[in-house]
Order: sequence, then C-alpha cells, then structure tokens
Amino acid sequence: MTRRRIAVIGIGKIAQDQHLPVIDKGSDFELAATVSTRGLAYGKIPAFRSPADLYQALPEIGIVAICTPPGVRHRLVREALDAGKDVLMEKPPTTTISEFDDLVVHARARKRVLFQTWHSRYNDAVARAKAILKREGVASLRIDWRESVRKWHPGQDWVWEPGGFGVFDPGINALSIFTEILPFQAFVESARIAFPSNRQAPVDAELTFRTAGAGGPKMSAGFNWLEESGEIWTIAIETAKGTRLKLEKGGTVLTVNGLLTVEAPSEEYERIYEHFARLLDKRRSETDGSPLRLAADAFLLGARENAAPFEW
Ligand code: NAP
Repeated sequence: MTRRRIAVIGIGKIAQDQHLPVIDKGSDFELAATVSTRGLAYGKIPAFRSPADLYQALPEIGIVAICTPPGVRHRLVREALDAGKDVLMEKPPTTTISEFDDLVVHARARKRVLFQTWHSRYNDAVARAKAILKREGVASLRIDWRESVRKWHPGQDWVWEPGGFGVFDPGINALSIFTEILPFQAFVESARIAFPSNRQAPVDAELTFRTAGAGGPKMSAGFNWLEESGEIWTIAIETAKGTRLKLEKGGTVLTVNGLLTVEAPSEEYERIYEHFARLLDKRRSETDGSPLRLAADAFLLGARENAAPFEW
C-alpha cells in the first residue's frame, strides 16, 4: 500500500524525539514536508516557514500533524481543516474547552478526520488495567506523577505562561489514563495548586476526585515538576474485589497483587500513527475532551498557593 504523505508542523522536542523518526521508520506515512517558524529542516524534506506557505506550495499533501504548544493549536488546526487537511493533534489539545469543542464541530463540518491524541493511552498495560477495573470496580486510586521540568521541557518558557498548563502538561497524561481506565465518570472534588511566585503556571498540584453518587471510592492525584530523582509516573489502584494494581512508568508496566503482569517498551507514537492510519481508512475522527475538562475543573476549583520562584 502506498504511504500517505504527511507534513509535521512545529519542529520542537516532541516532533524531533517522536513524530519525525516514527513517521520515517513506519510503513503508513511518508514525511513529505515540515513547517518550522525558526526555519528548522529535517534532512532533505521540503521545509516551510508557515502552514500557509506549505499549503500553497504543496497542496497535494492532505495530512498534517500539529506538534506545537497548545496555545496556538486552535488557530493552526482550524487553518488546516479550512485548507482541506486531515489533522493529528498533540496533547493537550487546546488551552480552553471552547476551543476544543469548536474544533470537534469544525472538523465534522469540513468532513475532515481529526485525531486528537493522548499518547499515554497507547500502552498494553493501560488496556489491561481498564479491563480489570471494568470487571472488578474501584475501591481506591492514587496517582503520583512527578518529573523534572528541566529534563522534559528544557528552556521552554511557554509552559510557564498563562495557558501553558505548568505541571498539568504532564499531569494531563495521568488524567488521560485515569479517564480511559475508570468504568465511571470522576469529578474534581478539590484541588490545591502551587504557583512559583515568578510564574503564571503551577509547579505542583494535589487533587481529589469524587463520583456522582455518595460513598464512592477514594481517589486522588499529586503532580510535581521538580522531581530530579527520575520519573515517578504511577497509578496505584485497589479494586472493589481487593485486587491491587499498579500502573508504573507512565502506563507501560502493570503489576497485579505485586506480580509483574505487563511490561512493554514504550511505543506510544508508533501505535498513534498506526491508529491514525486506520482512522483515515475509515474516515473517522477521534476526540476526547475528558482529560482537558478535569484539568480545567481543577483550575476552576483550585485553591492557590505560592511556591518558591522557578529559574531554569
Ligand atoms: P517545544 O520543544 O517548545 O516545541 C514546540 C514547537 O512548536 C517550537 O519549537 C516551535 O517550533 C513551534 N511553535 C509554534 N508556535 C509556537 C509558539 N507560539 N510558542 C512556542 N513554540 C511554537 O515543545 P514540545 O516539548 O515539543 O511540546 C509540544 C507539544 O507536545 C506540547 O503540547 C506538549 O505537551 C506535547 N508533548 C511534549 C512532550 C515532551 O517530551 N516534551 C511529550 C509528549 C507531548 P518551530 O520553531 O519549528 O516552529
């Protein structure tokens, strides 16, 4: 089968770490162009300074992956849909719920495929945990999501700007697993959010969740962005039948009652592009705003605390 021609827009860390090499080595897509406002290029692939330049020069490229920060994504996705492109979006999809809802409606109106990704969901351990919770229910759940902003977002000032999400940029990955595996809807019950005194986005957050009815499971999450000992990306769950599950390493490892049950290398982006190819075959969009809604609810409900100033 011929590979579909795709362009990547925004050649930052995640495009260089994942999108470009994964597209290159996969069999579903052919990297046909890049767009970089800084003028970066990828080998000999045609490079453009703006999406408009790309769309004018190579109108036959019908698919784009948008890998910029979320603040500019609504405008870029709309522009791509209006140019007749099918679109893959990085997470978090947008900075506001209104923008997110608009893109879902707009893709439908334009009859384009919109694939709004949550990369942490593309792990076997996540699917296995989901199946167990569906059978056994949830008695308690605790998320601990701690990493180093200096390692994962080196020098990226946008993460500290209004709309940059701060520690919710990684925290929303945990929320994307949480909303995927839970067999019921969760609501933010309380949030405590700590902002460095010289920044506009949080460095630490502690959330509790509730269910619609009374007497639901105890569920909470802690996010921190100053963890220098390595990543702690863990979700510990006790099911209503007493089984203890632990999703670790960002959802790539699952232990059940202390026994290693699933352990697979992270191939999230390989799976994302395979799935995108299937969605394109079926001309079907896939979008899910639930992690973004929980993050937004935490900001709405959150009690603010001041934390020490942050410098790179
Ligand atoms: P980044 O390194 O800062 O790259 C973003 C790129 O987008 C920039 O290098 C720039 O590329 C382009 N861009 C266009 N408009 C921009 C603007 N107004 N401000 C800043 N950059 C702009 O960020 P990233 O780490 O790749 O993150 C991008 C998205 O991927 C985020 O939504 C993030 O949550 C998600 N993500 C990141 C990681 C990670 O490990 N960092 C992992 C998974 C997902 P050009 O100069 O080429 O135009």
